[in-house]
Amino acid sequence: MKILIVEDEIMIAEAVAHILKKNNYSVDIAADGESGLDFALSGIYDIIILDIMLPKKDGFSVLHSLRDAKIPVPVIMLTAKNQTQDKIKGLDSGADDYLEKPFEMDELLARLRALSRRKGEFAYNGILQYGDITLNPHQLLLTSKDKETKLTPKEAQALELLIANKYITVSKDIMIEKLWGYESNAEDNHVEIHISLLRKKLKQINSTLTIKAIRGLGYILNYPGEV
Ligand code: CA
Repeated sequence: MKILIVEDEIMIAEAVAHILKKNNYSVDIAADGESGLDFALSGIYDIIILDIMLPKKDGFSVLHSLRDAKIPVPVIMLTAKNQTQDKIKGLDSGADDYLEKPFEMDELLARLRALSRRKGEFAYNGILQYGDITLNPHQLLLTSKDKETKLTPKEAQALELLIANKYITVSKDIMIEKLWGYESNAEDNHVEIHISLLRKKLKQINSTLTIKAIRGLGYILNYPGEV
């Protein structure tokens, strides 16, 4: 996943880039609106983080030019605190999301995940790839390099949820809410049963991916190939 940061405050840009790289994104930085637009028009980016106040060309004009050029890349606008007008203007200009400065990195990472999911669904028709596995949630098919197995709908949903949240722990409550619905009578042990079946199927196709239980918190995917 390739991300462009258009931000003239170089300390912020580099701090964000550093953390994104640690999270396995590849990152370019443009320090003014003109070069930001040039970079963005290349069409190679999966997501653009765009500041509003920029030298040479402001964030709104960059966004306008980008959308005029029919580049559909998801854009997160960085707005100043309490500038509701900027948020509205940004969204009206074709931004997909905004984030108020100063922001928490965890929040930015969550927004990026949400946007890449949206993009992933669009680009790959719902097929998810992570580590050494591919999940086709429509056909309930889990494949590795040389093997495949069928999943139950609940197993597929659980795995989908874990892949979508691959860097954060998914609680049993969230699993219940997503898999059975908000007002269901499902309990923690229902989740445990499906997770244990899912673990067996990952083993069965020789995947090195494991589902780690974090006591009292929930589950997280663990892929040994990833730092
Ligand atoms: Ca700025």
